Amino acid sequence: MKIETKAIHVGDRKADPAKPGAFIPVTTPIYTAASYIYESTAQLDRVLGREEEGFCYARYDNPTSAALEEVMTSLENGHGALACSSGMMAVHVAILAALTDRRRSILAASAMYGATTSLLCKVLEPLGIEIHFVDICDLEKVQQKISENKPGCVLMETVSNPLLRVGEMDRIAEMTRAAGAALVVDNTFATPLMLRPLELGAHMVVHSLTKFLAGHGDVLGGIIVADKEHHAVIRNLCRTIGPGLGPFESYLTMRGIKTFALRMERHCSNACRVASWLSSHPRVSRVHYLADPAHPDAAVIRRLLPDGPYGAIVTIELKDAGKEEMFRFMDRLKLIVRATSLGDVHSLVLYPVIASHRDVAPKQRERQGIHDGLVRLCVGIEAVDDIIADLDQALEK
Ligand code: PLP
Repeated sequence: MKIETKAIHVGDRKADPAKPGAFIPVTTPIYTAASYIYESTAQLDRVLGREEEGFCYARYDNPTSAALEEVMTSLENGHGALACSSGMMAVHVAILAALTDRRRSILAASAMYGATTSLLCKVLEPLGIEIHFVDICDLEKVQQKISENKPGCVLMETVSNPLLRVGEMDRIAEMTRAAGAALVVDNTFATPLMLRPLELGAHMVVHSLTKFLAGHGDVLGGIIVADKEHHAVIRNLCRTIGPGLGPFESYLTMRGIKTFALRMERHCSNACRVASWLSSHPRVSRVHYLADPAHPDAAVIRRLLPDGPYGAIVTIELKDAGKEEMFRFMDRLKLIVRATSLGDVHSLVLYPVIASHRDVAPKQRERQGIHDGLVRLCVGIEAVDDIIADLDQALEK
């Protein structure tokens, strides 16, 4: 099945085991039970010991989240998944699953979502885990750092936030495997419609479900889809830590996923139009977009994404604009929502310096190329002419 079909059909339509033969719900219900009863204590023992399939306790799993995990496993072509309370929780648990007793060291892309950088520098490093950063688009450097630092985990984003850099994930996966480490890829920006990191050799893929997959700006969630080995580790961690997503959020996310491919196509075609319109605007000094032939990683994009789509994010720089001018531009927008997210049906604008990268040390932010003249748009699925008209009037004044 193709992704569009899987997104609609996989995970749902399970018979209620308590009512065999009664009926099968077309979509997965919201199971709120905290625990489950079995015919006998012996059966409960088998389920708790994982000799028999079943649900015991909501911290371990629940049927609504299991349906979401099934569809995401299928979309990413993995072995299994764990739906988490947020994208950051998914990143955190995936890192824990990648590190081993012998290897408490992480090699991370220097350009990543701000909270991921904070997780590494402010939470994990103080606990004694070594953190090293590398320009993920420089393969030689990546190989050198892997050899020097012997990380347990290599961490990167498919498409970096907000400058949209694309590393050669398949080659990095080869290097990571050869060194006995695990590659964790944050695929939030690309979604499985654009790239599937596990097919390119990654061990675990994480998503902020909050974004394109849930898609409507009304749910916070994350997910890790993993290979067989890491999935087993993750499920054990889940029982102890309790990072799982609640059934209400899983239900909303399942609902969003059904239309995700359709939405994504519109997001991407709108973004292409917006990027090309912005690139000829006299007030715009630079447009970062994956379809741009002058993109610094154009050759990699051509190889990994030969036919697109090229995503919904367009990052722009305004001529000679500092913070004040950027605030004025954002305040003039009438349709495009000023909010800290992406992937919703509506178009969003975000100023990385005060939002996604607020907690990153200014020097580190500068090294990442994130400065006061930069703004990130996530192009929604409205009529594209309306989005362009809004940008036009905000840039005019
Ligand atoms: N990864 C990326 C690339 C993100 O952009 C975000 C949030 O913006 C996250 C992870 C964290 O997701 P959440 O806000 O669901 O914790």
